[in-house]
Amino acid sequence: MIDLTHTLTTSTEAPMSLWPGHPRFQMTRVASVPEQHATLTAISLGSHTGTHIDAPNHYIADGLSIDKYDLNKLMGRALVIDVRGKKARELITWEDMKRWEGEMKDGVIVLICTGWSQYWGKDHYEEHPFIDINAAKKLVEKGVRVIGCDTLSPDEMCSPTAEVHKVILRAGGAIAENLRGIEEVLELKDPVVSLLPLKLDDCDGSPIRAIAWSANVA
Ligand SMILES: [Zn+2]
Repeated sequence: MIDLTHTLTTSTEAPMSLWPGHPRFQMTRVASVPEQHATLTAISLGSHTGTHIDAPNHYIADGLSIDKYDLNKLMGRALVIDVRGKKARELITWEDMKRWEGEMKDGVIVLICTGWSQYWGKDHYEEHPFIDINAAKKLVEKGVRVIGCDTLSPDEMCSPTAEVHKVILRAGGAIAENLRGIEEVLELKDPVVSLLPLKLDDCDGSPIRAIAWSANVA
């Protein structure tokens, strides 16, 4: 089982990357054994803090919320697009993705591997490569609805238009962000991925425990 999830932590030695202005992850021990009957922790975070998924209503006013989202779409065959050669803030074009065109179809979850998760927690994490709008449109045209990336966003950092988000979410898709270890999925034969969210009432996204495994293993 490959864990595609960054740890939710309050550590200052290994800090989490965070979208500017989003709520930080907080964790407070409210009771501990043996002093108390049981150990219990209060946790608090934004719906887009850490490894998470965007629901359609994150950008589309009448889009589905995460609790209503079809779970069948969030678990399925993974297709890794390996674009690890990309530099900081470089565009990921359809030209870069075309060689996997034959495998892009309805139900396939496309994972964009930029290798950027190595910069998690560092300033350079924000300088990630991002998807060209035409490449996003092509993915949707091919039937792809769910994508995942190892960056803060499939769009350019702090893009005022977030057009890749809108193309995917308007088509009823969902976007997993801040994944890690996508390069390890390349080693799997017939990879399958799961991006299941918490059932948060009318919410625009959710933290996920993203995992991948080989369909050949029971
Ligand atoms: Zn998000």
